[in-house]
Amino acid sequence: MHKSIYRQLELDDTSYRAIELPEERLKSFFSGFRVGGFDGVNVTIPHKQAVIQLLDEVDVKAKVIGAVNCINRSNNQLVGYNTDVLGFTHTLRTHSIDVEGKDVLLIGAGGSAKAVAAAFAQQDVASVTIANRTKDKVADIVSVIGHLNRDVKTYASDLDELESVKTKFACVVNTTSVGMHPEIEHSPITDVTANNIFKDKAAAVDLIYNPLQTQFLKQADSAGAGVALNGIEMLVAQAVYSVEIWMGGNIVTHVDMRALTRELERSFR
Ligand code: NAP
Repeated sequence: MHKSIYRQLELDDTSYRAIELPEERLKSFFSGFRVGGFDGVNVTIPHKQAVIQLLDEVDVKAKVIGAVNCINRSNNQLVGYNTDVLGFTHTLRTHSIDVEGKDVLLIGAGGSAKAVAAAFAQQDVASVTIANRTKDKVADIVSVIGHLNRDVKTYASDLDELESVKTKFACVVNTTSVGMHPEIEHSPITDVTANNIFKDKAAAVDLIYNPLQTQFLKQADSAGAGVALNGIEMLVAQAVYSVEIWMGGNIVTHVDMRALTRELERSFR
């Protein structure tokens, strides 16, 4: 994906590579990064939280979420960001999913749910209902939203309660890993819930991109969702926003995200 971005931008001498880093080497890696080697770094599971203490500055959203996935080095200072928030907002914008002043439903309360919650808070939604298997974790999501936008109402729900919830949602997002390869027949919701929450044409977004068409998206489609989108655009957009942070300037409008998405989709088929 990154090679394709650099090809599009004609940045022939830019390289990007994956490094597998055990936890015990995290500190020494970042000491080296501070003084050279790379201009920027993406961080993924399981280091998104631990890395924060190794940075000089952390963007407010990343701090509130408690997870950094993109780091920029400038004058030997390391600054952390979370581009998942921008990636999710990009999906909303691309598909004209208007959530401002509307009620939305967030299924799941893990790391990615925090990024989606932050995006919703920034979009000035009226309320976020959070449904998670482990109800204790809902408090973390409520806290993220409260830090970013005090006007947004939050409600906790059991997954089972969604079968009879009365709220008319504008957007429903699956942030759980249920339905991800190899357990592709699974969904975090029942068909009864799908018929209830999508009957008013709510937009459905599943952050999962493998498979491209999850059971959750199939349920949303048959229940009449306005649109049913997988997580591949968010994945592409968070990468492009990382490049924008590293390169500066307006990279996002100079990249053909649709072409990148199609290319990546082909690699998943
Ligand atoms: P995470 O922090 O581990 O959270 C996992 C979530 O799934 C939790 O809410 C967990 O509930 C729930 N869950 C797991 N197994 C379940 C089950 N059997 N029944 C009900 N709920 C279950 O993971 P994450 O980082 O948020 O990632 C979640 C998904 O989002 C993954 O598929 C990941 O690939 C995808 N993702 C996509 C993008 C993108 O760019 N498109 C970005 C980030 C993540 P409990 O709290 O009860 O355990």
